[in-house]
Amino acid sequence: MRKGLIYTIFVLITASLIGIVVTQVFWIRNAYHLKEELFNRGVAIALKSVATAMELNDGKGFPGNMDLSNVEVGKRFDSLFLEEMGCMRIDEEVVYGIYQKTDGKFIFGGFANYEKELRRSAHAVSLAGKSSGQALVLAAFYPRQQSIVLRQLLGWMILSGVFTLILCGAFVTVVKMILRQKKHTEMKTDFVNNMTHELRTPISTISLASEMLLKPTGELSRERIRRYARVIRDENLRLKRQVEQVLQISLLDRGKFRLKPRQIDVHQVIEERAKTFSLQMAKRGGQLDCNLQADFSYIFADRVHFVNVLTNVLDNANKYSPQHPDIRVSTRNSDDGIVISVEDKGGGISKENQELIFKKLYRVPTGNIHDVKGFGLGLYYVKTMVEAHGGWVSVKSEPRKGSRFDMFFPFNYKENKNAYE
Ligand code: ADP
Repeated sequence: MRKGLIYTIFVLITASLIGIVVTQVFWIRNAYHLKEELFNRGVAIALKSVATAMELNDGKGFPGNMDLSNVEVGKRFDSLFLEEMGCMRIDEEVVYGIYQKTDGKFIFGGFANYEKELRRSAHAVSLAGKSSGQALVLAAFYPRQQSIVLRQLLGWMILSGVFTLILCGAFVTVVKMILRQKKHTEMKTDFVNNMTHELRTPISTISLASEMLLKPTGELSRERIRRYARVIRDENLRLKRQVEQVLQISLLDRGKFRLKPRQIDVHQVIEERAKTFSLQMAKRGGQLDCNLQADFSYIFADRVHFVNVLTNVLDNANKYSPQHPDIRVSTRNSDDGIVISVEDKGGGISKENQELIFKKLYRVPTGNIHDVKGFGLGLYYVKTMVEAHGGWVSVKSEPRKGSRFDMFFPFNYKENKNAYE
């Protein structure tokens, strides 16, 4: 229901935004046409006034049979034309002239470049005053008429465009925030469900085993007691590991931990870990190879966290290899540090998930199959820790082919508080 409501609101707002944009375009078009009409009318009135003035002689000194080739008369005509246009508040760049209706020949004004436009111009008025008994036409042409009208609207267009953009930008940001929030809430719910399940299993196993030990009926053989005690110890260790993992992350989040860097031999740590892991691999019919190529393998790092980082990545390589795990750990030196690569031939990770797996609580969605256990905290811890050491971590992977995680640690520990504060 809530989800449905959110989508309905999204759709309604999107539709309204589209509606607003369409309405704006419609109004701007309307305004453009109105302005154009206003301009045309202004010019028409001004031309009419000029024509009337010429016809009535209007005290401006045009003789009935005007001779516009006379420079004085021409000058008077120019000033009359501009004056009338000025009255209509039209003082834009203009070309004007008078031509004979019958043959289109100009008897005054006009410019060779614009004669065609003047003959075709809608801004034209017939003159009754005749110089040669011919019907005359006074025409004006505004070469920049479109831009004149547009200029008048430009301010409003920009303003409405900016407001619309702000509105769209704000909407997209809010949608993104809501979706992110939703995803986060889903991940948290998954995490809580997952953790409840993961904690419940060892707790019930422990309680079952302890009840068996406490059963009054009959004597338990030493062997059975040992077996139950082992179960309790192993499950307890599992519980401890899980609780520690969660606590560690909460410490990371609050920036409440200090690294204790000291010199460690990366190759030695890898070999130690590899020994433990090889046993696990062998149980699943897999193998773990080391190809330690770095010439210089000493770095300054917090040993505990370094071991945890390596363990997390190796654990994943094992967990996410559905069949016999085939894992390779290699090292190489770069200019100022060492790059450790953990490669597997497991399920791989799709491109879009590769960017997300380092986020807290993120687990690649697997539908309803929950065969691989985890909290989605391991790689978040790895990234935070590697970066806290001044290094970086990256992944290369192809679905169904495998993954490679590269981790770089600088030789000299460079505290990077930003990584966890
Ligand atoms: P978890 O393993 O507890 O789910 P991680 O943070 O360690 O959490 O890993 C996040 C996700 O990245 C996992 O859910 C898994 O889908 C994916 N992933 C990590 N390592 C590998 C790997 N080596 N191969 C395939 N997928 C992996």
